[in-house]
Amino acid sequence: KETVSRNFIEQIIDKDIAEGKCDTVCTRFPPEPNGYLHIGHAKSILLNYGIAQQYGGKFNLRFDDTNPTKEKMEFVESIKADVAWLGADWEDRLFFASDYFEQMYEAAVTLIKKGKAFVCDLSAEEIRQYRGTLTEPGKNSPYRDRSIEENLRLFEEMRAGKYEDGEKVLRAKIDMASPNINMRDPVIYRVAHMSHHNTGDKWCIYPMYDFAHPIEDAIEGVTHSICTLEFEDHRPLYDWVVREVGYEKPPKQIEFAKLYLTNVVTGKRYIKKLVEDGIVDGWDDPRLVSIAALRRRGFTPESIRMFVDLCGISKSQSSVDYAMLEYCIREDLKLKRARMMAVLDPVKLIIDNYPEGEVEYLEVVNNLENPELGSRKVPFGRELYIEREDFMEVPPRKYFRLFPGNEVRLMNAYFVKCESFVKDETGRITEIHCTYDPASKGGNSPDGRKVKGTIHWVAAQTAVKAEVRLYENIIDEEKGVYNEDGSLNLNPDSLKVLKECYIEPELAKAQAYDSFQFVRQGFFCADARDSKPEALVFNRIVSLKSSFRL
Ligand code: ATP
Ligand code: MG
Ligand code: MG
Repeated sequence: KETVSRNFIEQIIDKDIAEGKCDTVCTRFPPEPNGYLHIGHAKSILLNYGIAQQYGGKFNLRFDDTNPTKEKMEFVESIKADVAWLGADWEDRLFFASDYFEQMYEAAVTLIKKGKAFVCDLSAEEIRQYRGTLTEPGKNSPYRDRSIEENLRLFEEMRAGKYEDGEKVLRAKIDMASPNINMRDPVIYRVAHMSHHNTGDKWCIYPMYDFAHPIEDAIEGVTHSICTLEFEDHRPLYDWVVREVGYEKPPKQIEFAKLYLTNVVTGKRYIKKLVEDGIVDGWDDPRLVSIAALRRRGFTPESIRMFVDLCGISKSQSSVDYAMLEYCIREDLKLKRARMMAVLDPVKLIIDNYPEGEVEYLEVVNNLENPELGSRKVPFGRELYIEREDFMEVPPRKYFRLFPGNEVRLMNAYFVKCESFVKDETGRITEIHCTYDPASKGGNSPDGRKVKGTIHWVAAQTAVKAEVRLYENIIDEEKGVYNEDGSLNLNPDSLKVLKECYIEPELAKAQAYDSFQFVRQGFFCADARDSKPEALVFNRIVSLKSSFRL
């Protein structure tokens, strides 16, 4: 498998600069405003932006809105928000391809006048039949030899609305015998009586992508038009358009492989169905990999950048594991976030020898590996919540947490020893009774006695209740992404909602997107859609590596 280093694009650009083919590098990200951006787009955004930065060049955000459909405008704002969030600053270089319709029309007229384009009356089906196959050359259209005058008149009439959709098209006159099917007199304009979100009813003819895109790049002075591999076969047409229309500084198309994540759903129609079926709560559901979803889950722009850098730029198609994204967010947050205490599956722990009603405030360092994060005061009292799994009536081997007679460290607080416990009639543990050693304050005993287990806790009196959402892949990875009938293999446990979690009071201040480490649990983020000061909701971004396995 060939892997081209990240530098293959840079090498091309270096050469172009050395040969004087370009002075100021200009790149662009050209989304079609027809959906939300996903992690794959992030790669393209950061690649294009990164190159512009690196060469002291320019980066354009251009909406490729040459194909009118109804829902378009609503996506423009979400795309802008996502690109800005990723840190790709387009400054004042925001463009809409539809603003160039007049220039595109003029370019088509130029081609007609050069004898390089003709109006064709074949139907879409006939055009397909005439096109030939990979092994068979195509056949010339019977309309190919229309005079320039006739073509100019007909094209003007197309624009004026004289023809129905599909009645006539404008085609480039290239070579019906070309081994590259894209070069067999491709359609460059079609009639479509549709309103456009930007130009309204001004136009009833619209340019095709392969004609429009190189012109958009050329108009903006884009020097390097970076796109994904499926356009490799379209490059000869791209070059033909910029050459024949006559741009003096032709942009250069460079292709790289798309970013795919293993066992992750990115296809628009699948996500649409998940939303419609109520399996996810929107395009930004934290289990999805749209940029909005990753942001809502608690990913940072830095973590996405790290991920994209780690993936590298390649010419060969490959698929990257989601675990790598998780690695990146863990790495990014490790030193940046405070390590707080939250109990997700609570059971009461009562310290029988601790004064009733008393609350003391313990000074706790926020992140032992990063003193810059300072410290906070954490309330402690006679009644606490601990994780249910941190107590066992009958412990297995190597279980160092609480069990009758065992002593553990309450993180940042004291040693406690389990004296007894209470069960309800169903056998469920309801209370664990302990005694504490006041001399072990801070988590160490002056007599040097050691304990093997350290558990976290939240003081019951001051605890704040919260909802915590634990996520897994929406796909059942064992079975693969798709069933035989093409439907998705859904994981029924992809969302686990814990309604009764207890968090330390400091966490009640969490605002949308704020993230924290919950010690021993993972990284969590206040849900931007559902979390409210009086009803907090946290998403698990990613778990920590687990230290204990039963
Ligand atoms: P999708 O069908 O997933 O929405 P798209 O290609 O239709 O993708 P566009 O809006 O046309 O989306 O793409 C904008 C830019 O993002 C294009 O330059 C495209 O090549 C790039 N892009 C899209 N998907 C990926 C991907 N998976 N990896 C890298 N770049 C991508
Ligand atoms: Mg798209
Ligand atoms: Mg596309």
